[in-house]
Amino acid sequence: MDSLRVLELYSGIGGMHYALKESGIPAQVVTAIDINTTANQVYKHNFPDTPLWNKTIEGITLDEFNKLCFDMIVMSPPCQPFTRIGLQRDIADARTKSFLYILDLLPRLQRLPRFILLENVKGFETSSARVRLVKTLKECGYAFQELMISPISVGIPNSRLRYFLIAKISTEDINTQTSSKILDAFPHLPESDSPEHPTFLSPACQGASQPEEKMEGGHVLFKLETALEAQRKILQNSILSVRQIQEFLEPQKEINMEHYLLPKTLLRYGLVLDIVKPTCRRSVCFTKGYGRYVQGTGSVLQCCMETKIESVFTGLDRCSEEEKLQRLLKLKLRYFTPREVANLMGFPQSFTFPEQIPIIQQYRVLGNSLNVVVVAKLLQLLVS
Ligand code: SAH
Repeated sequence: MDSLRVLELYSGIGGMHYALKESGIPAQVVTAIDINTTANQVYKHNFPDTPLWNKTIEGITLDEFNKLCFDMIVMSPPCQPFTRIGLQRDIADARTKSFLYILDLLPRLQRLPRFILLENVKGFETSSARVRLVKTLKECGYAFQELMISPISVGIPNSRLRYFLIAKISTEDINTQTSSKILDAFPHLPESDSPEHPTFLSPACQGASQPEEKMEGGHVLFKLETALEAQRKILQNSILSVRQIQEFLEPQKEINMEHYLLPKTLLRYGLVLDIVKPTCRRSVCFTKGYGRYVQGTGSVLQCCMETKIESVFTGLDRCSEEEKLQRLLKLKLRYFTPREVANLMGFPQSFTFPEQIPIIQQYRVLGNSLNVVVVAKLLQLLVS
């Protein structure tokens, strides 16, 4: 196959670019576009030879796009208009404007790209933006498949349930198009993975991998956690096709613990922390607030294994503030380092941050990015 010319929109730190490399598909990113200056510094640092436009997408003309002669678009439009914790203003949100502009532009391109891959948050699948996307794709003659996938399904112990759409111009069938149903697992790929790290899990296991979903009922155990949530964590840790957290950690001696231990001020939120051990096979989604807030932004790592977590949390709510703190300190809780978060998001070792980017900014741009291994598999599915 000739090398595909790829346009990377909303390129951020280049998650899509890494996924293309990981997929093994002969391809070249002809232009990446983003307005976030921090993300752009990281992108330039890792892909110095890729043209990167620091421009708003809606400010780029049809003519400029035509000149790029691309065969594929990969894109992660801003997800805030669709997140469940946001206001869900959808197409009324100013941040959707650039995406609507792309949809308007697509049918007017001199030559339609053969392939499109879009990534977004859970919530996008019920949005009006998605309705418009699907309508435009149909009008342009694309076959497409939508999927909701979490990295758990590729053996990575991190939940990051995301919406994906892969589209192919339909001179031939898209080999993934089985129905208009949104798939919740990968359909079979032409080549299969090694037996130690099977790629596919049954939808039942996938369901078990979504701790974001709150279940009703159940009584509160030693943490602010229902029996069902606690059970689900145990179940997740028992899925042997998912690797252990320790495989994604940096050598402990190389970590400056001072930088990563949770400060006392945050330990006060002990009851809402998602704590994992190196032997666990799960962690919650890392978001852009990681390192600054503790609730719902990502898991923290227990570094002292001698302390039993039950001994810390049983009756914690009846302790004085000082006693609470002393108990929690015993766990030696720390944040995952940005390198470790990148590992859990499937970024290769060759990915690095420029020295001048502060750690908090590193978490921020990583939190906006995607799981490289998941997207690489989707690209293989799309192009095969
Ligand atoms: N996939 C990317 C992250 C996408 S997050 C990665 O791997 O890092 C969405 C990105 O869209 C953000 O980086 C944001 O700066 C960018 N963005 C938002 N609105 C934009 C616009 N109108 N024009 C160009 N970039 C935009």
